[in-house]
Amino acid sequence: MKIILASNNKHKLEEIRKITAPLGYEVISQSEAGCNFDVEETGTTFEENAVLKAKAVYEKMKMPVISDDSGLEVDYLNGAPGVYSHRYAGENATDADRCSKLLSELSGVEKEKRTARFVCVICFIDENGTETVIRGTCEGYIGTEPRGENGFGYDPVFMYGDRSFAEISAEEKNSVSHRADALRKFSETITNKKG
Ligand code: IMP
Repeated sequence: MKIILASNNKHKLEEIRKITAPLGYEVISQSEAGCNFDVEETGTTFEENAVLKAKAVYEKMKMPVISDDSGLEVDYLNGAPGVYSHRYAGENATDADRCSKLLSELSGVEKEKRTARFVCVICFIDENGTETVIRGTCEGYIGTEPRGENGFGYDPVFMYGDRSFAEISAEEKNSVSHRADALRKFSETITNKKG
């Protein structure tokens, strides 16, 4: 099945492609589908933003769409940056700026209080316009310095066991991440609906 990813984020596209390929899905980006617009993320939850993004692309293309709204929730910061993960250090900030802002907010905070989770909500809209919304999570904690070269976003500061998400391989991240969790649940749901 061919599905449009309602995003042009190449990291998300690559991860989603790798995770869904064995399920028989061919995921293409918005720009590959010739659908060149950005959807304003005006929601206050991951769910609202995921639905907004998927619906906008479905309305235009009328073919199966999947969206991913994701981010990092830090317990000590009462769930921030949350849905504002991408905008946490301002509109034109880099991944390094976002990581560095987070580390300074947590400066001096002890390890036990640095617990955090990545959240990924996907919204799938099938060829008939039926929506499925699913949340995946991955628990960890925030380190004290950026570590590793892999991944993207907050991966260098998100510790999974004693390594950051940027220190583990793409294969390992794709088997334990919030995105993998959401896509696994998605695949189970689709299989159950079919069966
Ligand atoms: P959005 O879903 O486009 O609103 O952006 C989500 C933001 O959350 C990204 O820009 C990253 O900063 C962060 N994020 C989401 N997923 C990941 C991940 O797998 N690793 C690291 N950062 C992530």
